[in-house]
Amino acid sequence: MSAATRTPARPAPPPAEPPLLVGPATVFTPNRMLERAGVLVEDGRIKALGPFTALRRRAPRVRTLEAEHAVVLPGLINAHTHLYSALARGMAVPGEPASNFVQILERLWWRLDKVLEPDDHEVSALVGLVDCVRCGVTTIVDHHASPYACVGSLAALRRAVERVGVRAALCYEVSDRDGVLAARAAIEENLRLARALRRHPSDGVTAMFGIHALFTVSDRTLGECVEAARAAKLGLHLHVAEDGADVRYNLRRHGERVVERLHRFGALGPRTLAAHCVHVDRREVGLLARTGTLVAHNPESNMGNAVGFAPVFDLLARGVTVGLGTDGYTADVLRELKVASLIQRHASGDPRRGWAEVQAIAIDGTARLASRVFGSRLGVLAPGAPADLVVFDYPSPTPLRAANLLGHLQFGLDARHIVHVLARGRVLMRDRRLQTVDEGAVMERAREHAARLWQRVRRRPPR
Ligand SMILES: [Zn+2]
Repeated sequence: MSAATRTPARPAPPPAEPPLLVGPATVFTPNRMLERAGVLVEDGRIKALGPFTALRRRAPRVRTLEAEHAVVLPGLINAHTHLYSALARGMAVPGEPASNFVQILERLWWRLDKVLEPDDHEVSALVGLVDCVRCGVTTIVDHHASPYACVGSLAALRRAVERVGVRAALCYEVSDRDGVLAARAAIEENLRLARALRRHPSDGVTAMFGIHALFTVSDRTLGECVEAARAAKLGLHLHVAEDGADVRYNLRRHGERVVERLHRFGALGPRTLAAHCVHVDRREVGLLARTGTLVAHNPESNMGNAVGFAPVFDLLARGVTVGLGTDGYTADVLRELKVASLIQRHASGDPRRGWAEVQAIAIDGTARLASRVFGSRLGVLAPGAPADLVVFDYPSPTPLRAANLLGHLQFGLDARHIVHVLARGRVLMRDRRLQTVDEGAVMERAREHAARLWQRVRRRPPR
């Protein structure tokens, strides 16, 4: 039976985890530093945070999770990504190299998504999620596309997310680029996940409503999406003005800029996540600010596609909540943080830039963004907060303080230092070994799927 016709199985409840004491460690909450501290984890949440010896006395029989030179940070968050891109790594793109953003979509991503088959979704997601755990990422906001294998695709992603044990907001991107029927199917796929989650709630998975971008949806489709999302109480997640082509299309066809058109449809608001916002003018920044719309900044992908990057100074100055995403370019959000800092200095010619902004985006903004998307307090270590945390083995060669954590994140602390990862109180990686999936088996299966997928991409002409 294919995934397209399979009824989503009722997810098995995660096994009850015994209490756990993490430490002794240098713990960042992240804006406060506690030395020789411990984090007591129980029932998926942080029960207490404080001096390790006091917590040890309080819970003498609790098992511990320790590391040499242990530094503990809240689980990392990726505010915008695409798990479906995982099997494209290293793939040769047939034909002439793309010379602009729309050609990159037409020659790579819209060829790849059309040949994804139902059995690819789960394995592609598992590859991406294993990468996330290895990079200390415990929360992702994903955006999926597979127009010829749409039905059941989000259920497949959900199975992978629940198996690996991270936290994910899932959606399917509605677009008219594959015709009206594909757009209707995509709307229904978003609603199908939302209904399934209402019947069988998940602690790890939440639903959003995906739209590709306003240069591939008609007014009619956009109106249907906004109405369906509102009726189902789902936040929207879409690409906004990633490239100038999106702006030019909307001005030509609709006589308005991208954010203006979204505003006309009532699509902006505190539950809408607008990825990129590279080509937005001052009036659009004002609309994003006034409506409380969330923005995901993805500098590496933007540089890779040569489309520019978001006006983060203007967005932050107007009070927009901006989080950091990778757009599927990498799973490594600590690398993305380093790039987010460099791009500001490089582009402005001002080495003073990229410090306060990166703190505001990568640390504070991403936590606020995820907390709103998931309706849970994420990106902080505090009693009562979900026990999502990363343990690094970081023998710092220089003093490490709350005041210079950002300097260590930019020049030192790295995915290579990560030894343990917990999400929702469950140990997903221990001593650098994945605990919830057989990583070797996932990669072996992925290589088989990728080889077949690449053949299908080669055979299919671009549209
Ligand atoms: Zn994207």
